[in-house]
Amino acid sequence: MARAAIPGRLTWQLGQVLELIDEAPRCKSIVLDVSDWRGHRAGQHVDVRLTAQDGYQAQRSYSIASAPEDPELVLTVQRLEDGEVSPYLVDVLRPGDDLELRGPIGGYFVWEQALDGPLQLVAGGSGVVPFRAMLRHWTAGRRESAARLLYSSRSLREVIYRGELTRLAHGGGVDVLLALTREWPDGWEGHRGRIDRGLLERAAWPPEHRPLVYVCGPSSFVETVAQALVDVGHEPSRVRTERFGPTGA
Ligand SMILES: Cc1cc2nc3c(=O)[nH]c(=O)nc-3n(C[C@H](O)[C@H](O)[C@H](O)COP(=O)(O)OP(=O)(O)OC[C@H]3O[C@@H](n4cnc5c(N)ncnc54)[C@H](O)[C@@H]3O)c2cc1C
Repeated sequence: MARAAIPGRLTWQLGQVLELIDEAPRCKSIVLDVSDWRGHRAGQHVDVRLTAQDGYQAQRSYSIASAPEDPELVLTVQRLEDGEVSPYLVDVLRPGDDLELRGPIGGYFVWEQALDGPLQLVAGGSGVVPFRAMLRHWTAGRRESAARLLYSSRSLREVIYRGELTRLAHGGGVDVLLALTREWPDGWEGHRGRIDRGLLERAAWPPEHRPLVYVCGPSSFVETVAQALVDVGHEPSRVRTERFGPTGA
């Protein structure tokens, strides 16, 4: 007797690549049509699995960049030069290809409109990806206070979703502050250097407003920022973290 798929259990499914969008050097968004996608919450991720001709498989996690209300599923991948999976996704994948994925995964690093308190997001590098989903979801509802995004990037060129973030910052009800760590244009008025305790005290929602804080990026970035947030008085239970990888940016 054939076994029916158990409802709610994660199974691998195919998404067809509709479009690839250049977001920054080494970074592309992959727009997917997944025929029986059952929806997701902002902040969740999927597993992507690649299979070589000899049967070898490699699997990695990627945050969902699209909001729950968006029609298509979008992932955004930054290529790591010596990586196994990300160079294929950024350089080889083409529209019309199928991509094997399963999800959505994760119930802790999610933001929903029912959650109370101001929204504070702190991103390092590609850690901004789940925040695109959260900010789109945030702007889809009516909010009393602005969401704030602190986003650390090496340079302006490497800022992912730059156009969309600029629109959100100008009339979209989101306060966006970019911290550029390696190079900045002439007359740069944003922050120069890493996100540190001083910047969090100046630019993030203060602890007394009891914001919900989400931190995402390379592991060492997340450790440093989460510790600094607690040091300046944020309740650890209101600081949620997602670590993307082993090294710092
Ligand atoms: C929940 C979750 C969500 C994620 N979402 C995204 C996303 O939206 N976009 C995205 O681009 N990536 C995301 N990642 C990271 C992604 O899963 C892979 O780790 C990344 O693409 C590297 O895979 P790779 O096979 O190319 O490199 P690998 O072959 O795994 O690693 C190559 C080298 O890079 C190092 N490395 C691995 N990951 C990182 C990293 N993140 N930063 C720095 N060095 C690293 C390894 O130690 C190794 O030396 C996410 C990770 C998690 C856990």
